[in-house]
Amino acid sequence: MSKLIDMHFHLDFYPNHLQIYNGINKLCQHTLCVTNQPEIFESCVDIYSVTKYIQFGLGYNPQCINDVPFNKSAFLRNLKRTKYVGEVGLDFSPKFYSNKEKQINIFDFICENSIDKIMSVHCKKAEEALYEILSHRKNSKVVLHWYSGDEFWLVKFLELGAYFSVNANMINSDKGKKIISRIPIERLLIESDGPFTKIDGKKYTFDKLENVYILLGTLFNMNLEKTKAQISQNFTWLVEK
Ligand SMILES: [Zn+2]
Repeated sequence: MSKLIDMHFHLDFYPNHLQIYNGINKLCQHTLCVTNQPEIFESCVDIYSVTKYIQFGLGYNPQCINDVPFNKSAFLRNLKRTKYVGEVGLDFSPKFYSNKEKQINIFDFICENSIDKIMSVHCKKAEEALYEILSHRKNSKVVLHWYSGDEFWLVKFLELGAYFSVNANMINSDKGKKIISRIPIERLLIESDGPFTKIDGKKYTFDKLENVYILLGTLFNMNLEKTKAQISQNFTWLVEK
């Protein structure tokens, strides 16, 4: 029987993170806990042991660009502690646009140093710049999280070999459904993006991961077991790339 996989979860955003860490391990849900800054990754792996079910991603969220400088040496010294990098990426929304060049330099540096890592990538209104960097650096284990761009760039990212992790908010919206319908099923992964999504009208909690699988399954006429098996197979392909 396949286990559930959550490709993008923010454990450190929950005040009761210890309880959640234990709960996820108990439910045997493979979870990638992304972080928004290298220093946060460092404290997470200092506090929590990596288990069969919980991994931490070394990240720098582009939405931090106005407030927190990217600590290159903290990023580099932590790289060998994980196979996962995220949350990283580019965000050219109005609030972060003025620091566009800075973001590009940081993301390029991260990609250059993360060739063999599995990456959870944020991209908002920055598809072209993100594509340029990924195709130049040739990172192959890229997972675009909560993709919101247009179809042109979606196809370009598929050509690069990218995967897409989708969440309940996407599955429940018309725009998200349209995006998902353009992604070959072999390139889909599931994420919760907890605590930033909703499930059944309530803020996501880790015990609801199965419901996200059920939601995705309804789009493809697949039952829960089949959906779990497909996502688990996709994840194996990604890891073995
Ligand atoms: Zn996130």
